[in-house]
Amino acid sequence: MKLANHLCGRWQEGGGEGLALLDPVSGEPLVSVSSEGLDLAEALAFARREGGRALRAMTYEMRAAALARVADVLQAKRADYFDISLRNSGATEADAGFDVDGAIFTLKAYARAGKVLGAGRCLREGARVPLAKDGVFQGQHFLVPMSGAAIFINAFNFPAWGLWEKAAPALLAGMPVFVKPATPTAWLAQRMVADVVEAGVLPPGALSIVCGSARDLLDHVGECDVVSFTGSADTAARIRNHPAVVARAVRINVEADSVNSAILGPDAVPGSAEFDLAVKEIVRELSIKAGQKCTAIRRVLAPAPVARALADAVAARLAKMPVGNPRTAGVRIGPLVSKAQQTAALAGLAKLREEAEVVYGGDPDFVPVDADPRQAAFVQPTLLFCEKGLAARYVHDVEVFGPVATVLPYADAAEAVAIARRGGGSLVASVYSADPAFVGALVPAIADLHGRIMVVDAAVGSNHTGHGNVMPTCLHGGPGRAGGGEELGGLRALAMYHRRHVVQGGPAVLELLSQEAVDAALLGA
Ligand code: NAP
Repeated sequence: MKLANHLCGRWQEGGGEGLALLDPVSGEPLVSVSSEGLDLAEALAFARREGGRALRAMTYEMRAAALARVADVLQAKRADYFDISLRNSGATEADAGFDVDGAIFTLKAYARAGKVLGAGRCLREGARVPLAKDGVFQGQHFLVPMSGAAIFINAFNFPAWGLWEKAAPALLAGMPVFVKPATPTAWLAQRMVADVVEAGVLPPGALSIVCGSARDLLDHVGECDVVSFTGSADTAARIRNHPAVVARAVRINVEADSVNSAILGPDAVPGSAEFDLAVKEIVRELSIKAGQKCTAIRRVLAPAPVARALADAVAARLAKMPVGNPRTAGVRIGPLVSKAQQTAALAGLAKLREEAEVVYGGDPDFVPVDADPRQAAFVQPTLLFCEKGLAARYVHDVEVFGPVATVLPYADAAEAVAIARRGGGSLVASVYSADPAFVGALVPAIADLHGRIMVVDAAVGSNHTGHGNVMPTCLHGGPGRAGGGEELGGLRALAMYHRRHVVQGGPAVLELLSQEAVDAALLGA
């Protein structure tokens, strides 16, 4: 079956044979995708013209209600999505839940949050600015929805959440969504779009999808579009430098790769709650989605006296987690999504092994449960130990996109800060400590290079939301190599899909223009 593309308000098949999407356990072809011969310029124009106009005619609360209906449609088909996740991504039940339920949860969060913006259609920011004596001439800042399309170029690891965490704020802001999912796992995103389109809960043109190569898509971007990209730093650089993007100063958001840290404080010694919480979280991060999360823990910074004990505790837990075919009962860790990803992960692992010893795993010939290693794309969960600290050449730079993490001992808080910062900008760091001096020094010292910092101690216990778990109400994105993007953060995310401008004029004009505006301060409320 070749997946159709939803463009110009109708389903269109790309030409040629198409690219096959495979089951990463058996290697069997499942469906194929193609964007060959499709008119992407007209498809974008249709989204802007029809979808954009219809969405902007709605108020924020009407769009919020539409998001709730989208969530209901997806909720009703949840079982189908778990099945596709299993077949196309090799997802365990927990992995599929992370992606699919995460998507629905995020949509519902925006449906709820969007109600607060009420019957407005744009945002008024701040107080009037006096520009002349007696108030006859003033300035007022506004944010209006952008009249282009919100173009999403997404990564393979979150075909569901990656689509809807971007689409929810964009649709709520009044921008039509045009998504190009990553080819290896495009099936789930395509099915979700098909279900939402069939349900008729969004206006025509509000949701478009093209599967397969992006082809000439970026040639047609305009100054009122937003391009939001998630994927590797290399592709991000190509997109940022695309001539049309540069020439038209197109707004770009990039969520790229990241060598995230878990940092144990000096008080997180064996026997402490903080030590146990760290061990549990590191193992969870290595197992969920087989480590294929942009937020996953890649580096574990531990005080030198406890680093070995920590590594042993993580290894002992990993040894108890069956790795194999997610269809088999008891399997906890599945494959990577493709042979290509397996090859890339093993190449990265080989680099890390040049300067780190293997504490657990790392066997390229290991035998997964109920799967033939020749066809399947497994990487054995692996924990490494690197004594080189800041002098390491690869550990701080190479993101192995799989179940691999490296323990790095540190001597003191200053060294922990330096190692965390050496990641060059990360999505997240988690800190396991109840020591106020350590936390108080560490967090501000790494904050400008991290999008999110999660601090866990005994009092928080298991109530934390997770190192790798992105909450719709909190910021997602990181500086530097993480791409410099910002997503989510509740209604703050709407700012990317609006354009700020100031109107200077008399009070009557400003009053007139403010009639459909709601207070932009609500975005941060
Ligand atoms: P990728 O190879 O960079 O691909 C990402 C997307 O870009 C895919 O849809 C791909 O399409 C498309 N693409 C590739 N070349 C393009 C071009 N020249 N023009 C337009 N689009 C192009 O990344 P990936 O392997 O899918 O994803 C893994 C990476 O994503 C990891 O490094 C991970 O850390 C990162 N990631 C980051 C986040 C975050 O939120 N920060 C979240 C998830 C993943 P095709 O698939 O058709 O090639």
